[in-house]
Amino acid sequence: MPRHSLKTQCPSCGIYDYHKVVKSDSTHYRWDNEISDFFIEKTGRDISFREHIRKCSTCSHQFYTVQMAKLYLKTMIDEIKTLQSEQQRILKENQNLTNQVKRLQSKLMMIQRLAAE
Ligand SMILES: [Zn+2]
Repeated sequence: MPRHSLKTQCPSCGIYDYHKVVKSDSTHYRWDNEISDFFIEKTGRDISFREHIRKCSTCSHQFYTVQMAKLYLKTMIDEIKTLQSEQQRILKENQNLTNQVKRLQSKLMMIQRLAAE
């Protein structure tokens, strides 16, 4: 029975198709110690994934895809959302502090002018 490939998007030309797997690695990959610590903290387990090399049916570009439990993808997406939210908070805080510095500089200049009189 022929194995059907998953429909994926080629990162080179953008075509969605059943790009053929040309190599499948049975190794269970992890990333590095820092990332292991992150996933163990967030999920209770180290990340584990498998790599496949696919060949685009249209442009012949070869690209890696990974296979992993959805839990790890969800954890990554949740972390991205948290970091984006934190980034927005920091940008807003930075803008508020910048405005505060401008107001204080303006007051300082006024005080210096009055002191010079
Ligand atoms: Zn392609």
